[in-house]
Amino acid sequence: MIRKIIHLDLDAFFCSVEELLDPSLKGKAFAVGGSPSGRGVITSASYAARMRGVRSAMPTREALNILPDLVLVRSGFHHYSEYSNKVMSILRNTSPIVEQVSIDEAFLDVSDMPQPIGSIAIDLQKRVCQETGLPCSLGCATSRLVAKIANDFGKKQVKTGRSPQKITIVEPGKEEEFLAPLDIQALWGVGPKTAAHLRQRGITTIGNLAALSDADLKNYFGQHGESMRRRAKGIDNSPIYSESGDPKSVSNEMTFHDDQDDKEGLIKILHSLSEKVGFRLRKAELAGSVVQIKIRYSDFSTYTRQTSMKECTNLDQEIFNEAQNLFIKHWQSGRPVRLLGVGVTNLDKPHRQLSLWGNDESKKEDLTKAVDDLRDRFGKDIIKRADTLKTKKQS
Ligand SMILES: [Mg+2]
Repeated sequence: MIRKIIHLDLDAFFCSVEELLDPSLKGKAFAVGGSPSGRGVITSASYAARMRGVRSAMPTREALNILPDLVLVRSGFHHYSEYSNKVMSILRNTSPIVEQVSIDEAFLDVSDMPQPIGSIAIDLQKRVCQETGLPCSLGCATSRLVAKIANDFGKKQVKTGRSPQKITIVEPGKEEEFLAPLDIQALWGVGPKTAAHLRQRGITTIGNLAALSDADLKNYFGQHGESMRRRAKGIDNSPIYSESGDPKSVSNEMTFHDDQDDKEGLIKILHSLSEKVGFRLRKAELAGSVVQIKIRYSDFSTYTRQTSMKECTNLDQEIFNEAQNLFIKHWQSGRPVRLLGVGVTNLDKPHRQLSLWGNDESKKEDLTKAVDDLRDRFGKDIIKRADTLKTKKQS
């Protein structure tokens, strides 16, 4: 199967957050970094500052020599982790397979999603921007290696002094061709020392490296020779690891194009969200005893409300019942809603009671299982309960 892997990187992340906190910084040459007295270094430079030669990891004193009017901002780390968490939760909401690799970077495996990878990337970029205000760039390819290199490459092509917000796609089968002209140091496993050594011998591009003889590869990389050749040809089968093998919660949410204030309609959406959550829980063989709902109103004020049940569940109807009760209790009737979410937390392995008498509970489970099997075979939308169907027709 051809994989669809996305690498997402927030553009000048710390600086972008600082611009949100203080919009007067926008477009200015500024940097987040340590004090110029002592050994302070630049942590992140705005694109305007980069245009004029300031780089991250540069001593602050040196940066001020290059650019005396550089505005220095002290880092507000707790803001950064707050924004980072927001972005990562958007990503986890898009795909269950998300591997965060740093505060501002993550890989997503979206192979299971039917849309073309490019449109998934466009949607993600838009969503991150709309919901957090942060710009990001994405690389799309069949592996993490090529997705990451594509993203780094694409971002470097943009020299406008503003955040690149670039999407770079390497089509399946074009990996080797894409990598061939790039500098050897773009490849993982080629550090500055190895690169200098290789350059002295005329090996400057990834293509040169891919074309080396077995003997030369062994000579330069020892036992890693063969894996370096595979990388140089863009072959990388390493999986994306979602860091939480056991998630803390399973949730689904929906943002509306137009704010909704119709109670019936909103409850039907809760129902379909509950079904999605139940389905994902059962797939993961999990159940939870706390049901949550999230309501975001048109002015972006957001409320989360939750309720605990005596037993863990992963059944659609039980999740929906709790979600509906919460909604009726807490929705400020008539107030337009922008986003609605349903989640289940306090997760555990589902414990089933042995049922000798075919009680109601096990019938519900049997029915649910039959529905899941059909969904697995024919896609998630094949079966809708009668009342979820009505929503579609009405809207
Ligand atoms: Mg970044």
